[in-house]
Parts: sequence; C-alpha cells; structure tokens
Amino acid sequence: MPALPSDRSAVPSTLAGGAAAPRPRPRVDGGEADGATPVDGHPVPPLRTLAPLPADPEARALAAVVAELRDELVAIRRDLHAHPELGRTEERTTRVVAERLRAAGLEPHVLPGSGLWCDIGPTVGRHGARRVALRADLDGLPVPDTCRLPWASTSRGIAHACGHDVHTTAVLGAGLALARVSAGLDAGVRLVFQPAEEVQPGGSLDVMAAGGLDGVGRIFAVHCDPKLDVGLVGTRIGPITSASDEVTVILSGAGGHTSRPHLTGDLVYALGQVITQVPAVLGRRLDPRSGVNLTWGAVRAGTVHNAIPASGTLQGTLRCLDVRAWEHASQVLEAAVHDVVRPLGVDVEVRHARGVPPVENREGATGVLEAAARDVLGPASVRLTEQSLGGEDFAWYLQKVPGAMARLGTRTPGGHTYDIHQGDLRVDERVVEAGALLLARAAQLAGRAPAEPAPLD
Ligand SMILES: [Zn+2]
Ligand SMILES: [Zn+2]
Repeated sequence: MPALPSDRSAVPSTLAGGAAAPRPRPRVDGGEADGATPVDGHPVPPLRTLAPLPADPEARALAAVVAELRDELVAIRRDLHAHPELGRTEERTTRVVAERLRAAGLEPHVLPGSGLWCDIGPTVGRHGARRVALRADLDGLPVPDTCRLPWASTSRGIAHACGHDVHTTAVLGAGLALARVSAGLDAGVRLVFQPAEEVQPGGSLDVMAAGGLDGVGRIFAVHCDPKLDVGLVGTRIGPITSASDEVTVILSGAGGHTSRPHLTGDLVYALGQVITQVPAVLGRRLDPRSGVNLTWGAVRAGTVHNAIPASGTLQGTLRCLDVRAWEHASQVLEAAVHDVVRPLGVDVEVRHARGVPPVENREGATGVLEAAARDVLGPASVRLTEQSLGGEDFAWYLQKVPGAMARLGTRTPGGHTYDIHQGDLRVDERVVEAGALLLARAAQLAGRAPAEPAPLD
C-alpha cells in the first residue's frame, strides 16, 4: 500500500480486530503485472481498465490520489461487508469510519448511538459558498448473506445487501482524497454517514435533527445499481425514487342483525364503498401523472353471515411518484374516506403513516454529478436512469437543501446481473474507486456551480 503522507495510520485499528468482531487485518499486496492488485488475495482491476485518465489537470490529480487509496478502500469495504449492522446499531461501522478520518487528521462529529459527520475545508467558501455534503448510509439488512466470498457477513442473518458498504467506503474515500487537496476547494465539504436508511423513520431525520445540514448548501449521494455496468453512472432530473405510505382505515358502528341494516350502520357495505371508491377518488383528485396508487392488502370485519359487525379495518399502501402529489395526498385521502362513509351511519378513523417522499433530483445538482462523471469516468459514462418504485430516505435532505442522487453501476461488464436486497449481491469492486472519485469531483465542481434555490424558497 502506498504511504499516505498526511496520515498517522493507514488502516484504522478497528480493522486489525476490534473487541466486537475480531478479524485479521486485511492484507494488501503489491501490484501484479496485469495491473490488478490483490486485496485479501483477490485481485481488483484498477478503474483505468474502464475509464480513461481525466483530461482536466485538477480531475487528473484527484484521480491519482483516489487511485493511491484504492486498495485500502477495498479492504475497508470488505471489512464492513463482513460486519454488517442493522439500523441504529451501526456502532462498529461508525467506529471504523471515525478512526480512519481521525487518522487522516480530521475531526469527525460522532452522533449518539451511531452515525457521524465530518467537515473538510472552509466553513464558508469562496463568495460565501455553503458546504457541499456527501451522504452515505451505514446500515445492513436483516437478510442472510449468501455471496459465498471470503468477506461474507459474519453477523448471522444480516447482510450488506443494499450496497451501503460501498456507499460508506465511497464517501470515506472521497473525503480522504478531498482532505489532501482541500487547499483548492471553493466550498467546504461535509461527509455525512447516516444510520438507519432501511428503517422508518429513517436515519436522515436523526442527522437533520442533530444539525447535520446546518451550513450545507447542496447534498449529493450515490446508490449502487447492479443493473448498470461498473464505471457507468445513472442520472435523472426530477424524481428518481418513489413514496410508499401505509394506510389504515378503521370503521366502527353499533352493529346489528343483517335483516335490519336501516337501524344500524352497515359497516361491511361501508367498507366495500371505501375499498372501491377511495382509490377512484384519489385518481380523480390528484394528477394522474403523479402515479398515485392506493392498493388494499388486508380487509377484516365480521364473523358470521347474519350479523352486521361493530368494527372493521382496511390496510393498504399508498404509492406516489411525485413529491407534490405525495404532500397533497394525505389531505385528499382523509377527505375522501370521510365523504364516502358519511351517509352510511358509521364512524371512521384514518391512519396515514407517511413513509419517505420521492428523491427529487434538482436540475443544477444533477448537472454537477453528470459533469463530474464525465470528468473522471469518461465522456460516455452517464446514462439516463428510470424512476424506481422503491423509497430512499435521502429524500428528506432534499426537502431542505438542493441536491441529487446518482445510481452507480456495480455489474462487471458481461457479468451476472444481481439485485439489491438479495443476500447473493456481489459488486465489481472497481465501484469503490469510481464512487469515491465521482463524489470527490462532484464536491469540487459543486463549490463553483451557481447556487440553486432551496426547496422551500
Ligand atoms: Zn435498501
Ligand atoms: Zn439502499
């Protein structure tokens, strides 16, 4: 491994085997004749087998720094993969990241429990520029790891099946590289390592409540995409993920004999009206382009053919592709249920558990990510990506500051297509260098890009 001039130690001591999870320190050997460097005995080809050297001198210098860090970053990623932790229990992961940042002379701000952020460069940049935040998520999923690699999970029933180990290492690598070139930064950078992306409420809300966005003018993130080749980046202006909320409707009435529905509230009939009418009302009162969809998954009422029950419940999900429709949907849903039930003489309660809004990529920030990708991964590295129906709690940050998320290819060209949230997920580890480089370059460029208005302006 190349010596890191500004570092007190190249690999965090936690990697040498912390008390929580003893594990041998990853062995990093010298390069091989074909350019591939074995990490833990497994070769990782350099990113330059995919992307040309950047033409821009500043981007080229950054690429050289990230390339020096590459083997160590892959070793850290493998270590994190071997020790996944569930949302809000990511203490070891937090420690690994914090120790590495401290070893580089940085001062991470560790959150209570798990998660951290770390500032690099000026608090107020050139022309008053606010900080550029790079966000990673730390948590694994309650899924058994079936990747069958030497760095498979050692935590029973938990795996980094969403690639958050890659995101964490990419943001760490971007930060370590930017720290070395911080004299040239037009805006300060904040690395945000949030806990608990996979659970609700998401850890982004913890970070924001703790002041993690204070002084931040823009925020960027990446997410692994196993359908995209490594070295490619998927972008999209506007929504890139979707909202998914849980809806429960509880009806109650006096109950009675089925021969006398006129003397009570016919609760089962009312349930039927809610089941069919409310989704139809939403489809008329909200823009159809917003893709609002209310689908019931459970209905419970009654026990016998000749008694009108006194209570019943409906449970379903409300999905939405558009953030403005999502913000309005709760009001329309509540009114629609009450209006449908009103003539039928039963009482109703609506519980709408809001999930996450869609991630709404801003035009300027998306342009920064695309320019960064073209600079460091090659002019043909950017692909238009589609909107997914999945949710991402990165969306909460974008309700406060402009920013964008890109998809980061993890598939080996010509190789098997894996899926996220599956225990057998494997990534082409060149993605670690690609992600670190993309985010570091985006932070450099964002410091110079014209400001976008905040979402609430
Ligand atoms: Zn996930
Ligand atoms: Zn994820």
